[in-house]
Amino acid sequence: MSEPVPHGRDQMMIRLERISKRYPGQSADAVAELNLDVKQGEIVVLVGPSGCGKTTTLRMINRLVQPSQGRIYLDGEDVTQIDATRLRRRIGYVIQQVGLFPHMTVGRNVGLIPKILGQDGQQIAERVDELLALVGLNPDQYRERYPRELSGGQQQRVGVARALAADPPVMLMDEPFGAIDPITRERLQDEFLSLQQRIGKTIVFVTHDIQEAIKLGDRIAIFGPDSTIAQYDTPERILAHPADDFVRSFVGAGAAVRSLGLLHLRDLPLPACERVEDRRTISEDATLYDALDAMLQAGVDELAVAGAGDAPPRLLRWADAIRARERAATGSERAATGSARSGEAP
Ligand code: ADP
Ligand code: MG
Repeated sequence: MSEPVPHGRDQMMIRLERISKRYPGQSADAVAELNLDVKQGEIVVLVGPSGCGKTTTLRMINRLVQPSQGRIYLDGEDVTQIDATRLRRRIGYVIQQVGLFPHMTVGRNVGLIPKILGQDGQQIAERVDELLALVGLNPDQYRERYPRELSGGQQQRVGVARALAADPPVMLMDEPFGAIDPITRERLQDEFLSLQQRIGKTIVFVTHDIQEAIKLGDRIAIFGPDSTIAQYDTPERILAHPADDFVRSFVGAGAAVRSLGLLHLRDLPLPACERVEDRRTISEDATLYDALDAMLQAGVDELAVAGAGDAPPRLLRWADAIRARERAATGSERAATGSARSGEAP
């Protein structure tokens, strides 16, 4: 398994240059002259209404769809014309309809690519167990099951494990959690973020759900109605500064409140907390959204923030929370807010 990638985050892993796709017999482009840069180790989310060209864009990256024009670069190399099979070994692909082979056990599904790559049986068996554990499935319990013996969420995890099997630097994910109930989906999103902290892949993730985009993306590309990108930016800046009316309406109401969910208490400069025993306590893993919700529920305007390990508790006051959000909204960078997601040093 590759280590997280603390270095080289500014290195471009994927670059799409004026890429267009017109399907045969169509009078308009499905994707029109699109430019997109994805840095190494970053999660970029493509989001937009149905039919705006997200899947087409994603599938041009691994050439399941052949671009009509434009160029694709992978890790600096022009891959627009190279052999697509060779290209796909460097790119994992996860789709909504997981696509597991129903007549193969979970273990064989996950081990498929290593087998094609010619690894020996023992090596494959170890890799399969490692991957199942990585996505939160006990290998002894799930290795021999068939896909139909799994829940939708478990099948989705097997799909992720299978895409990771060849340890590709790049992962493409097309609405992977789309068909999953909301509660399981939230859990899979959380697991996905913590998995990404460990594996540090470069990920392009497609969704039509702006909430999911805001939660998962280091950067978000919002596709407009004309099959081009209306805004490409961090979730914070999209919420605080939507580029135009289309983005504003797509992001929807409550942007300021929702941006509270992007700020983790551990990243905020807060004073030490006295008289902890008199106060309600919240974990520093919580977000400002959680904290203000807890204050409103309890009818208090201060909370003790419990530190990790032996770190002393700190004090969060309502007014500090408001100021922290303001600072994040006006800041030009993802300041200290994104460390939990991208695995970079705070
Ligand atoms: P999204 O994933 O954003 O919903 P798609 O990339 O699937 O959008 O589709 C973009 C546009 O291209 C849509 O108008 C769709 O109907 C059209 N399209 C997609 N695939 C094909 C195809 N194989 N042949 C013709 N048109 C297609
Ligand atoms: Mg699609």
